[in-house]
Amino acid sequence: MKASEIRRRYIEFFKNRNHAEIKSAPLIPENDPTCLFTTAGMHPLVPYLLGAKHPSGTRLTDYQKCIRTGDIDEVGDPVHLTFFEMLGNWSLGDYFKKEMIGFSFEFLTGKENLNIPADMLAVTVFAGDEDCPFDEEAYNEWRSHGIPAARIAKLGKKDNWWGPAGTTGPCGPDTEMFYWTGPLPAPETFDPGDKRWVEIWNDVFMQYNKTADGKFEPLAQKNVDTGMGLERVTAILQGKASCYETEIFAPIFAKLDEIRGIDAPAAVRTSSERIIADHLRAATFILGDGITPGKVDQPYVLRRLIRRAIREGRKLGINDAFTSKIADAVIEEFGDVYPELRDRAAVIREELDREEKQFAVTLEKGTHEFQKLIDRVPAHIEKKIISGKNAFNLYETYGFPIELTIEMAQEKGFQVDRAGYDAAFAKHQEMSRAGAEQKFKGGLADSSEATAALHSATHLLQAALRKVLGTH
Ligand code: ATP
Ligand code: MG
Ligand code: MG
Ligand code: MG
Repeated sequence: MKASEIRRRYIEFFKNRNHAEIKSAPLIPENDPTCLFTTAGMHPLVPYLLGAKHPSGTRLTDYQKCIRTGDIDEVGDPVHLTFFEMLGNWSLGDYFKKEMIGFSFEFLTGKENLNIPADMLAVTVFAGDEDCPFDEEAYNEWRSHGIPAARIAKLGKKDNWWGPAGTTGPCGPDTEMFYWTGPLPAPETFDPGDKRWVEIWNDVFMQYNKTADGKFEPLAQKNVDTGMGLERVTAILQGKASCYETEIFAPIFAKLDEIRGIDAPAAVRTSSERIIADHLRAATFILGDGITPGKVDQPYVLRRLIRRAIREGRKLGINDAFTSKIADAVIEEFGDVYPELRDRAAVIREELDREEKQFAVTLEKGTHEFQKLIDRVPAHIEKKIISGKNAFNLYETYGFPIELTIEMAQEKGFQVDRAGYDAAFAKHQEMSRAGAEQKFKGGLADSSEATAALHSATHLLQAALRKVLGTH
């Protein structure tokens, strides 16, 4: 079954059960300044989960584009992508556990749905702790659908809980569904630590409100929030060892092969190929939502994705600009489902070309500079370190994102003084802020950079003196 068919079946399944289909929200959260990107389908729905009335009613379903920057370092493993699509459905004070677990079981195993044999599945439920009881209802519900007790793992808050850690607000247990990807038959007993059990779907039951004095009170409006990873489900249904082997990535790899002049690619894609495909798919979608590369926040993440992809491209021997060609393949493939990609196609291409041109120059100079740092350290020294100051210089002068420096250093057996880098970065920010403040106050008659630097240095010196002297 193709990804497009799975997406369609999911939405149809829930529409047939009186859910209204809502539109995928942008990747940049509209009402959450604490998060750079939309990380889950529930993210844009937070106000409604907190009680606001949703214009489309109390049963919703959608497919949502997501970015998880926290998963970037896991890219290359079979099931963690930076960008992925999450299928989801919600009950806003409507149905609860019994119905939802029934829906999940029916969608996973139903012949006209995903048609997964039940003996390939296992689930987790919340085990209970000193504050909140064992989720017996979820457990019994799974049992009633024939899931054997040995295939139901009971886990604590670390694994089976949704909600604000340490703070107050709505929260509750969840139940996660896993699929066996190892040799058949699947083991009778479910070991959630075995990576061959792959998580495919998560049902969250928001039923408590955590109060300021640490009590868990029943919520007046109980909600259900669920999320299923489209790429993962596609891979397991097709019996593929990773998301990258599905048709979702095929046009991207085909374009990459074309760029490299490769006629018969190896069956399993290398880590460089995977990173390029994942990162440029993510970058294309971020650009499609109006972000352009830059120095902080989303623009920085975008830059980091593009630059890492380019460097992986160099490893494959691609020395000419190629990122916008890959973006074309992404736009072509996803433009029907996400029309914003098509609408912004010209800008996406332009921005990638610009970023790539800029980075090509700095990559060459920076790599040279980086090599000098490496060569300076004699081979016999055991603990090889690139100082924070040098790492910051690579960033500031050559545009090397710190993650790039760390990665290149690792390849050479070096470590980077990350704390030192952070300190140098903070100091630099402080200086620019001081400079900007001076400007704002009209303190700069001459706005040349030299004068600005002098002013901010003076400002810092004054601040330091005040600290030493204990005056304000
Ligand atoms: P995992 O434990 O595998 O990291 P998760 O518990 O962090 O997954 P959820 O937050 O429950 O994931 O998201 C719901 C679903 O989205 C998951 O069950 C999975 O199918 C999918 N998913 C989560 N993270 C990724 C990712 N980085 N790439 C692809 N799919 C993902
Ligand atoms: Mg995760
Ligand atoms: Mg998980
Ligand atoms: Mg989960």
